[in-house]
Amino acid sequence: MAEKIMPFSTNRMNNPFQNALSQLARANAVKPFSSEFMARLHQPNREVHISIPVKMDDGTLKIFEGYRVQYNNARGPYKGGIRYHQDTEINEVKALAFWMALKCAVANIPMGGGKGGITVDPKQLTKTELESLSRGWVKLMAPLIGPEVDVPAPDVNTTPEIMGWMVDEYSKITGDKTNATFTGKPLEIGGSEGRGAATGLGGFFSFKAIQEKLGLPASCTVAIQGFGNVGSNAAESFVADGHKVIAISNSKGGVVNENGLDIKALTEYYKTNGKVMDFPGAKNITNAELLELSCDVLVPGAFENQITDQNAKNVKAKLVLELANGPTTPEADDILYSRGIPVIPDILANAGGVTVSTFEWMQNLANEHWTEAEVNEKLKKIMESETNIIYNRSKELNTDLRRTAFIVALERIEQATK
Ligand code: GLU
Repeated sequence: MAEKIMPFSTNRMNNPFQNALSQLARANAVKPFSSEFMARLHQPNREVHISIPVKMDDGTLKIFEGYRVQYNNARGPYKGGIRYHQDTEINEVKALAFWMALKCAVANIPMGGGKGGITVDPKQLTKTELESLSRGWVKLMAPLIGPEVDVPAPDVNTTPEIMGWMVDEYSKITGDKTNATFTGKPLEIGGSEGRGAATGLGGFFSFKAIQEKLGLPASCTVAIQGFGNVGSNAAESFVADGHKVIAISNSKGGVVNENGLDIKALTEYYKTNGKVMDFPGAKNITNAELLELSCDVLVPGAFENQITDQNAKNVKAKLVLELANGPTTPEADDILYSRGIPVIPDILANAGGVTVSTFEWMQNLANEHWTEAEVNEKLKKIMESETNIIYNRSKELNTDLRRTAFIVALERIEQATK
């Protein structure tokens, strides 16, 4: 029988920006902030829509919709990635920009929050078209970004190569030679050691910081949704520390092997086949099934709205580590909390990426190049200390880790606003 292919659900019934505002209200209910401050945080400082013309290889002209949301810069320049996805739209970008502002505050790095995107399935473009689209985004955005203003980076489907085109276009237009307007660049043009692995590794450090306190075993079983930059690097970090990754998926579907997957072999298989399904020795599963597997740690590492009021009651993991942005809806948060399943929230768990991006920006501005060991050591320190701060504070506040992370971030943003 043919395998049923279950893509990640991109359920727009759950508007990500509405979810973000609902999370804000829920945190404010535990520790109230001033109504002026709350009102300010209900909308971004600036929201930019652009139309990017691209001459396609067949000679036709196609117009793509692009965005940049500059949410809040009280703590530093707007910071956040650019997403290329066919479902990307303004409410998603707004939510992601809002979460970036909180994430940078949680990591205590001197950055505000922003996010960009283009509604496009990049797999449908040739390399020339992709380059022209990426340069087109910069041509229209150049007046509104810069090292002290707004510093974009990679996100879903955007790579170091794309950041390379973008920084080159920016320097052609403005003459800027710092290369500090974009992070996540290739090493040869000012990228940072360790940036590629940073989100996955940072999430692992966060898990490590409270693994024992949460009563998790020394060797955990781990299920990971997503096998892009984030999921694959997280898998490697867990395996290197003696944990067993039992399931992995990508947008087409996943595989499970209760005895542990050979991640190196799976990575090779994925490179060759563009999917993880049918990996020898493993059983195929859908993305929905992966979320409900018996395991110690569940890592949603792909898209928003994966754990919802529909499936939260079936989650069997002992911990959810959110490496994607917005994978759990507020309703699902309540269900997991009432069932005693802690969630290390996205704005903490996946802050490693933007943290090393900020290291890259600092290196560019100071004309320095740090070693991978230095970068990882600094990353570890931040992830451990901020995770402990939020864990301990959640006990004082008697609430979940997401509300606590919001409260800690809001206090820092409010302080900077004053
Ligand atoms: N796109 C990543 C995120 O969602 C990283 C952003 C950055 O490096 O600025 O956190």
